[in-house]
Amino acid sequence: MTTPDPIEQRRILKTAIPGPRSAELHRRKLSAVSAGVGVGLPVYVERAGGGVLVDVDGNQLIDFGSGIAVTTVGNAAPRVVERVRAQVADFTHTCFMVTPYEEYLAVCEALNELTPGSGEKRSALFNSGAEAVENAVKVARSFTGRQAVVAFDHAYHGRTNLTMALTAKNMPYKHRFGPFASEIYRVPMAYPFRWPTGPQNCSDEAFEQFVSLVHAQVGEENTAAVLLEPIQGEGGFIVPAPGFVRRVADWCTQHGILFIADEIQTGFCRTGDWFACEFEDVVPDLITTAKGIAGGLPLSGLTGRAEVMDVVQSGGLGGTYGGNPVACAAALGSIETMKADNLNARAKAIEALVLPRLQQLAAKYSQVGDVRGRGAMLALELVADAGDLTPNSVLTGRVNAFCHAQGLVTLTAGTYGNVLRLLPPLSISDELLAEGLDILEQAFAASI
Ligand code: PMP
Repeated sequence: MTTPDPIEQRRILKTAIPGPRSAELHRRKLSAVSAGVGVGLPVYVERAGGGVLVDVDGNQLIDFGSGIAVTTVGNAAPRVVERVRAQVADFTHTCFMVTPYEEYLAVCEALNELTPGSGEKRSALFNSGAEAVENAVKVARSFTGRQAVVAFDHAYHGRTNLTMALTAKNMPYKHRFGPFASEIYRVPMAYPFRWPTGPQNCSDEAFEQFVSLVHAQVGEENTAAVLLEPIQGEGGFIVPAPGFVRRVADWCTQHGILFIADEIQTGFCRTGDWFACEFEDVVPDLITTAKGIAGGLPLSGLTGRAEVMDVVQSGGLGGTYGGNPVACAAALGSIETMKADNLNARAKAIEALVLPRLQQLAAKYSQVGDVRGRGAMLALELVADAGDLTPNSVLTGRVNAFCHAQGLVTLTAGTYGNVLRLLPPLSISDELLAEGLDILEQAFAASI
């Protein structure tokens, strides 16, 4: 088997973005693929690696998206490719529930070891993030014998029926898709930038509201779980006010409610820790993982204390493909890479390089209302002007489009569509990061 030459870590624009071959493929997309599957940047990719995506027109784009926080170890990362190649040649599927295999065990052992908490743990593997969240709710209900699940404003947990109910944003995720699953309750997120009485009051007041709403509207004894992203992803990289996550988790423990951390976007070195919960020393009862876990292959996990995870009857969890051996091989290659290349340190180094540049933008442009995030999960929230926090989705779209045209893959996020988020692969070079930030600066200069 031939291994292609490594991709030169350089941005190269040979055509307009998207180029003619991408445009041709996109015409096929429009006639073959459901319009419900949207595309952010219709550039069709042929190869990718390091911090570069190579498109079908030969353009090389800088990747600040990682396929939405998935290719944390880089695209086609060598250890992932090696293990996947070997596995796919050995066997591709047996169904773990029929005749099992060691790779599944090794991934569960790694999850049990790497997730917060030193006690005995168990894991189960699935295909997508949404599926992991669904299963977290199943386990929590089974363990507690209670039904209610509390989720937060701005939350994103997936597009399946139960996870749509848990997701906060209507357009495009929920619009015309109801009715939604019952026994889901929503409470305010401790969102410092938009807290009505100011960020200094956010943690205390949000916690008080949380406690009072759950008590008055749901009842602690009816609540199976509280589900929270330790840094909200699609909702706009909202970092909860300091202490909030910890207090919610502790309060859950006091009331026999399971605290579920959805670390699907934040997990696996993205924020400079294996899991974002570690930042406040929070040990969740259950933790969902996906995205970065397997370097791009579809895999998700649910991990929790042994007595919680083992309460479910045999056959109650699983699925045909969950923990597919090829995806497990990819996960083992990803985790090996994260350890060998110390990607937590790399995420912190990326923060040290990128954050000051974003802060400079905020100092220069009054439309940059907030700079936030952690590690290689950083964002700008754009507003009308200093002192007018009206979300500026128009400027966000313009900046994003400018970056795309210049061959920088950026993503937007946020309930109001006014957040530019940066999620570079941790394999990106400092040079490409700096060049991407130069383009972002040019985008602001050209768009304001
Ligand atoms: N939870 C979070 C926090 C996510 O960011 C996502 C994906 N954006 C999901 C759940 C759903 O994952 P998937 O798309 O793999 O179903």
